[in-house]
Amino acid sequence: MTEPQSRLAELTANLAAVERRVAEACAAAGRARDEVTLIVVTKTYPASDVRLLSSLGVRQVAENRDQDAGPKALECRDLPLVWHFVGQLQTNKVRSVLKYADMVHSVDRIRLVDALSAEVQKSERPELGCLIQVALEGDPESGPAHRGGARPEQVLQLADALAGAPGLRLDGVMAVAPLRGRYAGDPAGAFARLVEIASLVHRQHPAATMVSAGMSGDLEQAIAAGATHVRVGTAVLGVRPPLG
Ligand SMILES: *Cc1c(COP(=O)(O)O)cnc(C)c1O
Repeated sequence: MTEPQSRLAELTANLAAVERRVAEACAAAGRARDEVTLIVVTKTYPASDVRLLSSLGVRQVAENRDQDAGPKALECRDLPLVWHFVGQLQTNKVRSVLKYADMVHSVDRIRLVDALSAEVQKSERPELGCLIQVALEGDPESGPAHRGGARPEQVLQLADALAGAPGLRLDGVMAVAPLRGRYAGDPAGAFARLVEIASLVHRQHPAATMVSAGMSGDLEQAIAAGATHVRVGTAVLGVRPPLG
């Protein structure tokens, strides 16, 4: 087989395996398969992989670094893809990210809400779907969240600000299972807490229904807890080389 064909075969097999895991987790949780959307995280992998995934029916892709995502999304602009931005977002990158991102999962502070809103209003682009990223590290002693995210007690205030910001649409919440703090090693507990926070947000903002949680290692726990979107990279594309 030529190189692209073997990559296609590999992605086909990996995608099928992930699809099986998602379907089994839904069944185990008594949920319908269509309650959970698979987002494939293509970070560090080339546009050619995105193209192969698109040919396999993938429609939702995610990236976490603007430097990589911008050129990749441009190369793939003919494909019918929804682009999710899931990485920590500096305000100086907002303009660039808004050129290709349909959704941002990592809104975690008022300054970012303001910057996103201002930039959407300046541009011709449609409304931006936003999720509030929640830091579940827990105790204040563990210091600031190093993977981004708002503290749980800040989420409702941020949700109100986001819902009132022109050009932005509050769609829900997102989290990554924390590596430290009270939920370290307990993704089920972390995701249960996230779903609790999602319910509080939903009560104030009924259109905010998305719960983005679960990655290659913990998508089952996320689906059991109630995730509506899982973000899977490694299990589809392979182990990433460590970032420099
Ligand atoms: C990389 C990444 C993922 C995917 O992680 P895998 O373990 O490779 O599945 C999901 N969410 C975010 C925010 C990421 O940065």
